[in-house]
Amino acid sequence: MTAYDYDLFVIGAGSGGVRAARVAARHGAKVAVAEEYRVGGTCVIRGCVPKKLLVYASKYAEEFEDAVGFGWTSEKVSFDWQKLIANKDEEIERLSRAYIRNLESAGAELIMGRAVLEDRHTIRLGDRRISARIILIATGATSFVPRHLPGHELAITSNEAFNLERLPSRICIVGGGYIAVEFAGIFSGLGVETILIYRGEKILRGFDEDLRDHLSTEMRKKGIEIRTKADVARIERSGDGVRVTLEDGAGFGAGQIMFATGRIPNVMGLGLEAAGVEATPHYAVKVDGYSRSSVDNIYAVGDVTNRVNLTPVAIREGQAFADTVFGGKDIRVDHANVPSAVFSQPEIGTVGLTEELARQGFRSVDIYKANFKPMQHTLSGRDERMLMKLVVDRDSDRVLGCHICGPGAGEMAQLLGIAVKMGATKADFDATMAVHPTAAEELVTMRDKWSG
Ligand code: NDP
Repeated sequence: MTAYDYDLFVIGAGSGGVRAARVAARHGAKVAVAEEYRVGGTCVIRGCVPKKLLVYASKYAEEFEDAVGFGWTSEKVSFDWQKLIANKDEEIERLSRAYIRNLESAGAELIMGRAVLEDRHTIRLGDRRISARIILIATGATSFVPRHLPGHELAITSNEAFNLERLPSRICIVGGGYIAVEFAGIFSGLGVETILIYRGEKILRGFDEDLRDHLSTEMRKKGIEIRTKADVARIERSGDGVRVTLEDGAGFGAGQIMFATGRIPNVMGLGLEAAGVEATPHYAVKVDGYSRSSVDNIYAVGDVTNRVNLTPVAIREGQAFADTVFGGKDIRVDHANVPSAVFSQPEIGTVGLTEELARQGFRSVDIYKANFKPMQHTLSGRDERMLMKLVVDRDSDRVLGCHICGPGAGEMAQLLGIAVKMGATKADFDATMAVHPTAAEELVTMRDKWSG
């Protein structure tokens, strides 16, 4: 038998790779992890975590305003972007160090540098050649920028947005997905005039139609300009900022333009072909239910596989891989009914089927909806409404989907995820006592079917 340098070599120290490395090492494997940038991956370094911190920061402006109706006076408030970014960076650094400590305490070796596959068992790292029995690709995804657009190099992506030296007075965000709507809320909350340019008819394609409508309305109420069926034709430098021209000829100036036009698997120059690893037409590593690629000793987890591109899913895939390959278990990750949140303002929490998908897959579907002013806004005076929606299969009474837009929606989605995953029926929801006074109680008190 050939002796390899390592039992497992992981490429990429993000959420999925780190979890897999730690679990495999605890199962007794000799493990190394290579990382070319910073330990923690997109989620920790320039994704979920810093994003949520900026969302918190951006909400205070409204909170100061809302406090007035409750008797508070909040004069002379001011905001310091550099201080926020410095504090955010400190927290990210702390988390990254914690990831490194966790890897080390599990007994995995961390190697800083770019790893490239040379064949199915060999990895090149600078001038080192390393062999491994099993290789895990966990390189994540990277921002997609439409490079055919003249002036695209003047635009930033979410990567740079986290570390702008100063806030622009106006920003143009291109895209209508998670990142576009989240950053629109962040910038707008921090006082930046925000224009969102989306090529389709309605933002957040793939989400329940009612959620898409509700969020669009609420974002517009907050002063975010959403231009749909709009495409950028070119970008030019103009003074300190840019001039954006749309396909229909309309133009405007902005301090910054940010592309939030999707993310693509990070496989460029990784050596997939040299190792014989097949990719999908969208450049994702093609894997089976055990995250195994077309080469039976090479696996892949997380965004590089383009299955469900969310941190907790990557972690679960990494855990399942390590438990199966090194722990003697047999675990496939179930990608159905994954709850998720969009930290737009107001935020979205969702799990299960949209009404549209449920109607395609089930004979008859009942809809329950509540649309109301959250209690806090009775005194704050803010013109904001909350939406809750349940999608129910009439034949089995099973709740197929829950969709919420409003404060706390993400937290609610986590708990609704348990109910939906367990196959809860509408009768189970109805039998559950309300928690009063909360917004979430609407979920168990909706009695009348929506008749349109
Ligand atoms: P999304 O895929 O969510 O959205 C991309 C957007 O860009 C879509 O609106 C798409 O339009 C548009 N787009 C794509 N190509 C072009 C183009 N050439 N010109 C103009 N518009 C274009 O990607 P994001 O970048 O927002 O986020 C990436 C992924 O990261 C998400 O899918 C999600 O999995 C994950 N994520 C999760 C978060 C969370 O859980 N809260 C937060 C942030 C990211 P169209 O709809 O027409 O295709």
